[in-house]
Amino acid sequence: MRQAPARHITVVGAGVIGLTTAVVLQRDGHRVQVIAAERGERTTSAVAAALWHPFAADPPERVNAWSRASLDELTRIAGEHPEAGVDLLTTREASDRTQLPWWAPSAPDLALEPGPHPLGAPYSFRFTAPRIEPSLHLPWLESQLHSPVRIERVQSLAEVEGDCVVNCTGLGARALTGDGELLALYGQVALVEPGEIPLDVALGDERNESALVYVVPRRREIVIGGCVIPSPDDRPLTPDPERTDAMLQRVRAAGLRPGRLLGARAGLRPYRSAVRLEREGRVIHNYGHGGAGYTLAWGCASEVSAMLRHV
Ligand SMILES: Cc1cc2nc3c(=O)[nH]c(=O)nc-3n(C[C@H](O)[C@H](O)[C@H](O)COP(=O)(O)OP(=O)(O)OC[C@H]3O[C@@H](n4cnc5c(N)ncnc54)[C@H](O)[C@@H]3O)c2cc1C
Repeated sequence: MRQAPARHITVVGAGVIGLTTAVVLQRDGHRVQVIAAERGERTTSAVAAALWHPFAADPPERVNAWSRASLDELTRIAGEHPEAGVDLLTTREASDRTQLPWWAPSAPDLALEPGPHPLGAPYSFRFTAPRIEPSLHLPWLESQLHSPVRIERVQSLAEVEGDCVVNCTGLGARALTGDGELLALYGQVALVEPGEIPLDVALGDERNESALVYVVPRRREIVIGGCVIPSPDDRPLTPDPERTDAMLQRVRAAGLRPGRLLGARAGLRPYRSAVRLEREGRVIHNYGHGGAGYTLAWGCASEVSAMLRHV
């Protein structure tokens, strides 16, 4: 494969998309600077349950290719870098049908398993999925950068320095590009002590998007979600206590016994009818990953890398 000439690249955005893209471009030999209005805990990426799972992202064919590439890289990271906060979990997905889900091509070991799903569905699919701990993974990505993230709010992409600018601003892309297709999808999670919930199996039920349920174990806590509600960009991110209670009730009603409530968090997923991954002059856009930023990050970053090889 042809090696790209080394360039000075500015990545705007320090969520999972910006940081992953920056790490990949730096590995390619480019000089990379990340600039971002917010980093770490203050990004949407910090709120995510962060289970590999193609969900609320389009279009299906590209999402499957990016998800598969990310699955391979996250599986490698889980084996080689325990400090990156990635572990492989058995995941059981609820279904009303025996037909494979649309994202089956990206999950090589996905299979229908005998018996009903623990969250109350007649059928259950099983697959292996990386689960990422944002509080470990985002700092791990940052720790690989040769230059620290510069905190700065960009007003215009045209004014950003560099031979190339990669726009990884999530929902912030609306103000920067005027993209009216970008939609905020509100999500909320509860964090609980494990109680009697095993730490090696994740459960999901997305049959009804407005009453989404997932139970995602981390190393020391469990994430319980969730919801998908189209919202204004400036919706307050104070979690609604009634919604938290309702989420806990739903998993208790399924016979699960979570431990003490540790807290709740809310965030806005940057959804678009198609992830915007394309070149526009000196700028490469990489935003709009909806409910699947962690699932798509490595695949999308590889595509940005390939775009830079072919100019
Ligand atoms: C409740 C919830 C659960 C989720 N669960 C999962 C899951 O299980 N699996 C999964 O794959 N995904 C999940 N997601 C989705 C995932 O969190 C998002 O897709 C992902 O975080 C998007 O990453 P990003 O880097 O594009 O955006 P962000 O994390 O929002 O980062 C955007 C960055 O751009 C910066 N920025 C914006 N505007 C500007 C500007 N003008 N100048 C400078 N910087 C700017 C911001 O400061 C920030 O650093 C979930 C999301 C939520 C809310």
